[in-house]
Amino acid sequence: MRRYANCKLCPRQCGADRSSGQTGFCGESAACRIAFAGPHYGEEPCFSGTRGSGAIFFCGCSSQCFFCQNHQISLGDQGRVVTADDLLAMAEDLIKQGVHNLNFVTPDHFWPHIENLGRRLRARGHTLPFIFNSSGYQAPAMVAAYAELMDIFMPDFKFADPDLAHACMRDHRYPDITREALRRMVAAQGFLEPWDDDGRLVARRGVLVRHLVLPGYVENTRRVLRLLRDEFGPQLPLSVMSQFRPVETCLTRGLLDRTVTAEEYGQVCDLVEELGFERVFIQPDAGHPDFLPDFSKKEPFAGHLKRGGRRRPPADHASPQTS
Ligand code: SF4
Repeated sequence: MRRYANCKLCPRQCGADRSSGQTGFCGESAACRIAFAGPHYGEEPCFSGTRGSGAIFFCGCSSQCFFCQNHQISLGDQGRVVTADDLLAMAEDLIKQGVHNLNFVTPDHFWPHIENLGRRLRARGHTLPFIFNSSGYQAPAMVAAYAELMDIFMPDFKFADPDLAHACMRDHRYPDITREALRRMVAAQGFLEPWDDDGRLVARRGVLVRHLVLPGYVENTRRVLRLLRDEFGPQLPLSVMSQFRPVETCLTRGLLDRTVTAEEYGQVCDLVEELGFERVFIQPDAGHPDFLPDFSKKEPFAGHLKRGGRRRPPADHASPQTS
């Protein structure tokens, strides 16, 4: 826990003394806060399976993207403080409910707590996979420590355009930092396996990269996809998401203030095909409101429960708006 003093856990390296109550750029002190813990059915089918992914959503975030789809907990004040023993009890309760994995959402700025939790769970004989579900904006030097405990990495790759990264999360270094973090994640755990086109087999290990298409920024997506293909090849498992919904700050700023159109998402899916990616989940319903969680509710993902997961494009895929 001494790592919270002069904190350097994420690429911001802001050095806040979180152990004395100071909050860093991520918005959090050393008091671990979570917003939700429960079986989650809205992840990709290979994580949610039939019994859900055991999600624990941590509050705060080192990225601080103004458009965050989880803004109530990453930028706002929803959530509650938990102790290490609370976390252990929550995780074991999820395991008792039969979830396929434990899914640590936005874990990097609370890594000392999660590392402690993971070690305790392993020592108590729990063998289910642990998922590091993150923004991709991780300090590359930390990845080796994550990989000692985490079986699956599910990082985003949000921006290949440094100016867009700066406009959204105030760090133009995002593309370089994330590319290096991903290199280390793939080197440590390989690609996601087992891979099942229909998503019926639940993943045990490896990396799947997520990308959220932003309205009006298809060019950024093109750059992301090309970069990923050039760096990791067409076998890299991908989830290309169309679910973006503008939150209030988007409307105030007049930036990213709409959903992704079917035409934009169609262009993206065509490029996915063109680049030869073979292991892909897509979301045919661009901007579907069911994917925006509401953390003020007891069940923030009610829509996800109704809708199920994402799907890979069919072999004869032309464009998602017609599928
Ligand atoms: S985790 Fe938070 S406090 Fe630590 S370096 Fe990053 S932003 Fe600063």
